[in-house]
Amino acid sequence: MSHTKLLGPVARFGSRYGKGIKENLVEIEKKYRNKKLKCPFCNNISVKRLSYGIWYCTHCGKKFTGKAYSIQ
Ligand SMILES: [Zn+2]
Repeated sequence: MSHTKLLGPVARFGSRYGKGIKENLVEIEKKYRNKKLKCPFCNNISVKRLSYGIWYCTHCGKKFTGKAYSIQ
């Protein structure tokens, strides 16, 4: 009886904690995917992430590489 009393809340906390981290990562990914960044060439906020580390400015048409989620 004492075993179930001890394991119950810990197990529940563990799964909730893991789920929370997963949801946070999805939120971060969403946030950065939709966020437009400032172009280092024309200074307009029109840089979109094409794919992992590749950026494209819709204003001046420049394509350049950077970090996965930010230019600098
Ligand atoms: Zn530009």
